[in-house]
Amino acid sequence: MRLVVFGPQGAGKGTQSQRISEKFEIPAIATGDIFRWAISSGTEFGGKVKSYVESGQMVPDDLTIEIIRQRLSEDDVQNGFLLDGFPRNLFQADALDRILAEQGYKLDAALVLEVPQEVSERRILGRRMCSQCGRNYHIDNPPKSDWTCDVCGGDVVRRQDDKDDEKVRQRLRLYHEQTEPLKARYADKGILREVEGQGTPHDVFARITAVL
Ligand code: AMP
Repeated sequence: MRLVVFGPQGAGKGTQSQRISEKFEIPAIATGDIFRWAISSGTEFGGKVKSYVESGQMVPDDLTIEIIRQRLSEDDVQNGFLLDGFPRNLFQADALDRILAEQGYKLDAALVLEVPQEVSERRILGRRMCSQCGRNYHIDNPPKSDWTCDVCGGDVVRRQDDKDDEKVRQRLRLYHEQTEPLKARYADKGILREVEGQGTPHDVFARITAVL
């Protein structure tokens, strides 16, 4: 299965992507994680994207598309993948279609998680993330021991771009302006799957498996 997952920040994309990835045995590729790792490892690429990511702006399309093109050429994605956070606009969606067409594939599904703005903001403010492996937590659902990741033992912290209310609102604005139009595009192609993102992670996941 080849699928993309989108929805407003705090809709639960990261959590659900991990579950889908485990169930369908496909790698979950999150552009946000790729960027954060590059920044924290101090690579040249990280240096190029740092100011955008930390201020809640979009990384330029050419850099983002190139990183996805490289990632989708690797061996582990040849039997399927899930993209979390890409595409983020219509230009990136066209680029993704071209990359897949070159490989002889197309997308099977575009999953959108819907939550009202208040829920989205509340979730982002309580959100915490492992600084090593990117696993998601929440102040209401912390790791078992003292903000240490259950999976890899990394420090669980607040994301830099989640700390400032104005940056959070900026990212939500960008979602509505640039990413939400993807719904109409994927609906036209007959692959849009809309899922209500409110409720427990377990309930949301049940809705997702029902539509996939
Ligand atoms: P996320 O973890 O998906 O919320 O992404 C965190 C940040 O990474 C975003 O606010 C952007 O700065 C950047 N980013 C992630 N995915 C993309 C993308 N597809 N295009 C441009 N910027 C992106």
